Amino acid sequence: SRQFTRPLNDLANQWNTLLSAMAGAERVFQIMDEPVEAADESEAAVLERMEGRVEFRGVSFAYQEGHPILRHISFEAEPGETVAFVGPTGAGKSTIIGLLCRFYEPSAGSIRIDGLPASGIRRDSLRAHMAFVLQDPFLFEGTIRDNIRYGKLDAADEEVEEAAKLANAHSFIMRLPGGYGAKLKPDGGGISQGQKQLIAIARAILADPAILVLDEATSSIDTVTEIKIQEALQRLMKGRTSFVIAHRLNTIQTADRIIVLQDGKVTESGAHDELLVRDGFYSKLVNGQVVLT
Ligand code: ADP
Repeated sequence: SRQFTRPLNDLANQWNTLLSAMAGAERVFQIMDEPVEAADESEAAVLERMEGRVEFRGVSFAYQEGHPILRHISFEAEPGETVAFVGPTGAGKSTIIGLLCRFYEPSAGSIRIDGLPASGIRRDSLRAHMAFVLQDPFLFEGTIRDNIRYGKLDAADEEVEEAAKLANAHSFIMRLPGGYGAKLKPDGGGISQGQKQLIAIARAILADPAILVLDEATSSIDTVTEIKIQEALQRLMKGRTSFVIAHRLNTIQTADRIIVLQDGKVTESGAHDELLVRDGFYSKLVNGQVVLT
């Protein structure tokens, strides 16, 4: 599963680096594979508000010329919808997210956000309306409070606590020696994997983005924490466009739209019931004939 999550974590690393650069904050994250970004168009727009409508139209992409990774990808997400990406490792799920964040630009086709070409929106503005909740959330050496506040650097302590409560993180934080002032070790050590996720959810709630990217945990988390995470995620996802790199059938089933990706192509898309009746990858997955790693 590490192999599965690495690329998306790399992307989030890049995103976090940009975020801290934007905020003038200390560069707390290492850049693993910094993409070379072209300058924004001089006319590029700043979006004060975002509804969260996303449209990919015939998007193709190659990291290296002659090695196409995504081919003619098309899908839509209405504001507030949940879209689950399902498919084997290497199918291109993280790359789609990378294009959505404009870490990379399509070689063909177009991406539209709220009906506008993404290429015409300033990257910082686009990313200001997005948040990530990943399997291995990025926590830094510092207090719990500062780690949550990373989602909105000018948030008051009360806002931080409010977000933590909505994220089901407040009670565990209050049990830590020092509470919100408890210091995390480098890399966020000292709390459990599930607790890290709750912190990441609190951070995202505070950021209040129109678009969410979730990378579901594959590692086992204790049942009690898992229930807290699911409940917190439901609160977070409500009213936001969510893209989930899904590993759990449960999550996938409840998505408004499921996009099956295989070898860089959309091979099936639709709701659970629609896909189930086809004899494709999805029905095999549901019937246990294929397994997601
Ligand atoms: P998934 O998220 O579905 O596992 P990815 O989008 O990470 O798939 O990868 C799709 C393909 O692109 C894979 O073949 C992967 O090896 C390749 N790939 C991913 N990132 C890079 C990169 N930075 N440079 C070159 N190839 C890459």
